[in-house]
Amino acid sequence: MPNFPFSEADPIQYPGPPPKKSDVVIVGGGIIGVTTALFLARRNISVTLVEKGRVAAEQSSRNWGWIRKQGRDADELPIVIEASRHWRQLAEECGEDIGLKQTGVTYLASSDRELAGFERFMKIAAAHKIDTRLLNAQETAGLIKGMSRSFKGAMTTPSDMRAEPWMAVPALARLAVRKGVKIVENCAARTLEISAGRVSGVWTEAGHIETSSVLLAGGAWSSLFLKRHGVSIPQLSVRSTAAATEPMPEIHAGAASGERIAFRRRQDGGYTLAPGGSHLLHLGPDAFRHATKYLRALMANPFGSRYSPAAPAGYPDSWSTPRHWTPDCQSPFETMRVLNPAAERSGLRSIERNFSRLFPQLGPVRLKASWAGMIDAMPDVVPVVDRVQAISGLTVATGMSGHGFGIGPGIGRVVSDLIQGNEIGHDLTRFRLSRFSDGSAIRLGPAL
Ligand SMILES: Cc1cc2nc3c(=O)[nH]c(=O)nc-3n(C[C@H](O)[C@H](O)[C@H](O)COP(=O)(O)OP(=O)(O)OC[C@H]3O[C@@H](n4cnc5c(N)ncnc54)[C@H](O)[C@@H]3O)c2cc1C
Repeated sequence: MPNFPFSEADPIQYPGPPPKKSDVVIVGGGIIGVTTALFLARRNISVTLVEKGRVAAEQSSRNWGWIRKQGRDADELPIVIEASRHWRQLAEECGEDIGLKQTGVTYLASSDRELAGFERFMKIAAAHKIDTRLLNAQETAGLIKGMSRSFKGAMTTPSDMRAEPWMAVPALARLAVRKGVKIVENCAARTLEISAGRVSGVWTEAGHIETSSVLLAGGAWSSLFLKRHGVSIPQLSVRSTAAATEPMPEIHAGAASGERIAFRRRQDGGYTLAPGGSHLLHLGPDAFRHATKYLRALMANPFGSRYSPAAPAGYPDSWSTPRHWTPDCQSPFETMRVLNPAAERSGLRSIERNFSRLFPQLGPVRLKASWAGMIDAMPDVVPVVDRVQAISGLTVATGMSGHGFGIGPGIGRVVSDLIQGNEIGHDLTRFRLSRFSDGSAIRLGPAL
């Protein structure tokens, strides 16, 4: 396991300066920015990707590494099915071990309510002919042996996969560079240059890049960047804690989650663990501005979030974060090169307690690393993937709502075609930007 989590103390792999001109400029070096860059480069389009900190240092290395079709929103499912194909191809093409393995994903049910939710997904799964199955209590105990308690049942998808995020996304970035993508780290995009309603360039901290096409794939920072240009998206970010154990005997090769614990076998023989339950939302100006849009999510899962009155300084929705800046002065993006929230102690205690309660035969859990990430959430728990009508030449792919790693290469391919004006092959209506302003009711996707 490399030094983890990534931080701005890590050496810069991709120094500047950025080029003066590029067909497309991508803002953000997470899974979405990197895979979009790759697909564009395959079409011989010149691509510059600017990353304010380090490639994959935010959500895209901090996630659990689940590549799941199971439990997806019906409109995401065709894209994640495509993504699964890309993952296999990219793993071969990049020539590095990214820990990609088909070991399945399982959700464990403690209640009839959870089982009813699984039943609903089975209809979607059947329509797309994926191999998701429901298990009864006995079959569940047979799938994950040695659990100290029984579950009412489970939903499992054997064809779902896992990969090591902190290995995969940097490896894909290296592949993108070999295909001709110019990546520049430590290079925040400060503002767009807009001429007569069209993108004509990007002002970065390292100078101007002339371009007619920009993709914003800025994760938790996207809303702040857009607001500077008068575009509002109701995106908030929530803190989510995870940890990695030392190597231990294999109790299950895949990934599974119950109400109190989520676990996934890692390539190095340890487990990546996360507490079940709620996320932490730091209240800031955006949280209040967009509160009504989140009412449905709140009512559906009243205990899904805990709250703190303010985010630490420098976070996207902190009270002190500037909402306006000019291209020639420091922007909030370079003030916080890598959003590196501390793991919550209560979350770590819950991980240790609940994993060892479920598998007492393993003895006390020995954690070798812990971290947190800020998940970029949308009120309906599905992303925004669209062109911005008000600013011609600007495309947005953000708000992956806690499940953007697995679907990442699928979104990357889709966005690369959206930018080129090609046929997409999937219906993106669900992911349109205007859904939050055209009077549409919020239609909730599966929970974070
Ligand atoms: C704890 C945790 C567990 C998760 N588990 C899973 C999982 O198992 N499976 C799954 O599918 N998903 C999971 N996710 C979600 C997944 O990690 C994200 O949806 C995905 O990584 C988002 O990718 P992204 O490229 O959109 O954003 P990010 O990875 O956050 O990347 C955005 C990048 O943009 C950069 N940036 C922002 N603004 C600027 C600017 N102005 N200039 C330059 N650069 C900028 C940032 O520095 C950042 O590196 C999890 C997330 C977390 C936090």
